[in-house]
Amino acid sequence: MGRAGRTPAQGVQVNAPRSKSRNAPAGPSPFAVDAASLPRAKFSDPERTAKGEARAKVPLTWLDTLWFNTGTLCNLACATCYIESSPTNDALLFIRAADVAAYLDEIAATCLPVREIGFTGGEPFMNPDFIAMLTDALGRGHEALVLSNAMKPMRRYETQLLALLARHGARLTIRVSLDHHTSAVHEAERGRGSWDAALDGLRWLSANGFAIAVAGRMLPGEGEADERAGYAELFRSQGIGIDAADPAQLVLFPEMDEAKDIAEITTDCWQILGKSPADIMCATSRMVVHRKGEPAPRVAACTLIPYDHGFDMGATLADAALEVSLNHPHCARFCVLGGASCSA
Ligand code: SF4
Ligand code: SF4
Repeated sequence: MGRAGRTPAQGVQVNAPRSKSRNAPAGPSPFAVDAASLPRAKFSDPERTAKGEARAKVPLTWLDTLWFNTGTLCNLACATCYIESSPTNDALLFIRAADVAAYLDEIAATCLPVREIGFTGGEPFMNPDFIAMLTDALGRGHEALVLSNAMKPMRRYETQLLALLARHGARLTIRVSLDHHTSAVHEAERGRGSWDAALDGLRWLSANGFAIAVAGRMLPGEGEADERAGYAELFRSQGIGIDAADPAQLVLFPEMDEAKDIAEITTDCWQILGKSPADIMCATSRMVVHRKGEPAPRVAACTLIPYDHGFDMGATLADAALEVSLNHPHCARFCVLGGASCSA
């Protein structure tokens, strides 16, 4: 994940070899970003853009969602997984339930207004401590959002999930990644056999009354209305209780590729785009990660940039209440522009 101009945290293993797993996708990703290579001068200075303009920054408004990365290991090795997860990549270690508890203790002790605890991976259900940390977060009164591919690792814990549902109801949401509304595109990204298993998991969650959502991706050349119509038909035909017109129930993400060119975000961009720093994810969230080679978990600015030392905010939530300099291509492509353009 590292790139010239920014430094991965010391001792952290990045770009671990992707899996040669039997079902890994063989061809190019259908979601590949079509753009020139990123010039080296861009995103190299947290204060100034390559043109010398003041770089945009995002202060922490309040901490609404605290994410935990449960570890990069995953049962899949998707073609463009931004975090490079696979069955063999442990660049982010399995976080331990005791480490999660320590951060939840900090929230309680300092009365931080954290509404929601998010869990992402890798595949969270591969972490042997996952059910314990999920139970802990819900038991302390937080909402919990789990990002999962809903495949075999999740299905091993049906009994425990049903118990958590009975106790906490809609305070637990499971958001399932279904990259597209067709099996062909989904499996071109996620590998053979991934479609039927994910749909089966989604049907199981829906039939049992879990609060669920789906995360999809914007396929180049396919507009949002067409995407939502495609998913709506899929959900209807599969009996899955998700309203595809609701952006909270069907979240459609823009593409990410840190190696491809994108405009840098200056302080003028907010006005040009009609956006506010407070709208951006790092204004209200942080993510705890345990990077391989580091003695303990650290707090990263957001879920999207777990390895980059420039986005490491410290060891505690108190340390992490800093403003974030938007000095990464993901800040521009994914968060601020998201398909729009800023002419500054
Ligand atoms: S399922 Fe998610 S975490 Fe796993 S490889 Fe695919 S995109 Fe990455
Ligand atoms: S990618 Fe950049 S702008 Fe987006 S949440 Fe992360 S740090 Fe903030």
